[in-house]
Amino acid sequence: MTIYDDKVWLSQYDAAQRQPRTIEFDDALAMFRATVERDPDADIIRYFDGRITAGELDELSDAFAAGILDAGFRPGERVAIYAQNVPQFVIAQLGTWKAGGIAVSANPMYRERELEEILRDSGATVLVALQSLYTDVAAKVVESTDVRTVITTSELEYQSANSGTLAGVERIECAGTTDMAEMLTAFRGRTVPPAEIGPETVAFLTYTSGTTGPPKGAMTTHRNVAFNAQTYRDWIDIGPDDVVLGVAPLFHITGLVGHIALSLLTGAPLVLMYRMDPADTIDTIEKQRATFTVGSITVFIALMNAPNASKEALASLTKIYSGGAPIPPSTIAAFEERFGHYIHNIYGLTETTSPSHGVPLGRRAPVDELTGATSVGVPVYDTVVRIVDDNGNDLPPGEVGELVTAGPQVVAGYWNNPEATANSIPNGVLHTGDVGYMDSDGWFYIIDRKKDQINASGYKVWPREVEDVLYEHDAVREAAVVGVPDEYRGETVKAFVSLRPGATVTPDELIAFTKKRLAAYKCPRFVEIISDIPKTATGKLLRRELRTATQS
Ligand code: AMP
Repeated sequence: MTIYDDKVWLSQYDAAQRQPRTIEFDDALAMFRATVERDPDADIIRYFDGRITAGELDELSDAFAAGILDAGFRPGERVAIYAQNVPQFVIAQLGTWKAGGIAVSANPMYRERELEEILRDSGATVLVALQSLYTDVAAKVVESTDVRTVITTSELEYQSANSGTLAGVERIECAGTTDMAEMLTAFRGRTVPPAEIGPETVAFLTYTSGTTGPPKGAMTTHRNVAFNAQTYRDWIDIGPDDVVLGVAPLFHITGLVGHIALSLLTGAPLVLMYRMDPADTIDTIEKQRATFTVGSITVFIALMNAPNASKEALASLTKIYSGGAPIPPSTIAAFEERFGHYIHNIYGLTETTSPSHGVPLGRRAPVDELTGATSVGVPVYDTVVRIVDDNGNDLPPGEVGELVTAGPQVVAGYWNNPEATANSIPNGVLHTGDVGYMDSDGWFYIIDRKKDQINASGYKVWPREVEDVLYEHDAVREAAVVGVPDEYRGETVKAFVSLRPGATVTPDELIAFTKKRLAAYKCPRFVEIISDIPKTATGKLLRRELRTATQS
């Protein structure tokens, strides 16, 4: 049996690169407590001109915990957070842990049906939402869920240099909601009894379409979070003098761990970018002297195209990682030529709490000669990886199969979904649905996918979800959705549709129909109307055939 654990690849790769390390923390709240004790005055969050110190974040999250407990929240319950990258996201998340709860993050791009599904599946009893998202989307669905307390907040808070205060807030009144600023003021100074948190306590439910089927809540434990926060710190050598550029969305596992948890652990300021505006991001990197970021390839392409981009502005940003989607060598080379910095590839899934593999800082990824894929690196600490064939047999170096991963960062399973857990994570071993191989030097390459998922610049789309919406249109007889190559996004969504007899509809009308019901990144950019959707004799959609037809 070939198990690519660290003993195998260490001998093949570079033993000196990885010193044995001591795991200090196995609970994410303990990491933050240690940081507060070490340096309560450290800026832990920066947002526009505002800053929040570790000590203030501790107080604010205590107030959040006290506030929700006062409203009837009980340990073990779920708090859904529906917001862009704002400081209140971090306050709510820490406060939820302090109250003994589980934080559930919802993509702020979600429309009504997607949000409702997550609220229902998680059984969240508290919803924290930006006011605009609440009014436009959440207000229409909360009544049909278990949510009892709605806390709304504004993206304008915390912009001012008066850290921790609530200057410049423009309030929109939302009926039946609690204003977060008022709640934090009312409960400031209150402490809550320590919550019972252990390594196996679930910290987040992070929704993903995973390797099979509709969105499921990956149960990310405190040990998972603490382990991979320490992985980021040790693998990339991040300390309190670093400055983390928070461009990845906080609701996604990369933001939750590679931004929030990393800063809570190290005390390195987390500079939150409310939205990814390329010119603003360049100015922020220069002003804040950001040193580290992890994001998707589109961020790096956007930075290269920003009007104010320059080598000088990006001089401090020396630790750069790209994950969530493939990054071709040409993008890495163009970025390096422009700014003098190398982009390191990093690979993982929601189910591996962010990285399972990465290119060590200062090393260059080799490239697969046949497909031109950049290596995703080598397994991070304590991670065991196998490449298996369709029967689960181990394959030797150089042979292509499915990547199977085990390690302290593999999640505990899917929330209320033992069947999906048994399929994808049997006995704690994750079947990634990604297809690749390990070369004779121990570097890994992802060159294909077993799963149906579409990867649009890191945003994952499950074709069935889009097809289900298309089927709701009266004119549609059958629909099949596939990913097609896209220069900017890597892949984008295309729908093939056949129509009911006598029905007429245009591709644009169908696209508009999906936009009302799904997050923008899931909506087809192309719709092709065809007479029949190709299927196998047993009626299974021939997606691969449709994909290939598009490419040729
Ligand atoms: P998510 O759960 O959203 O983090 O998506 C995980 C999936 O993203 C993986 O299963 C891969 O298909 C893909 N992925 C993540 N990182 C990379 C990478 N560096 N290169 C290629 N694909 C990646």
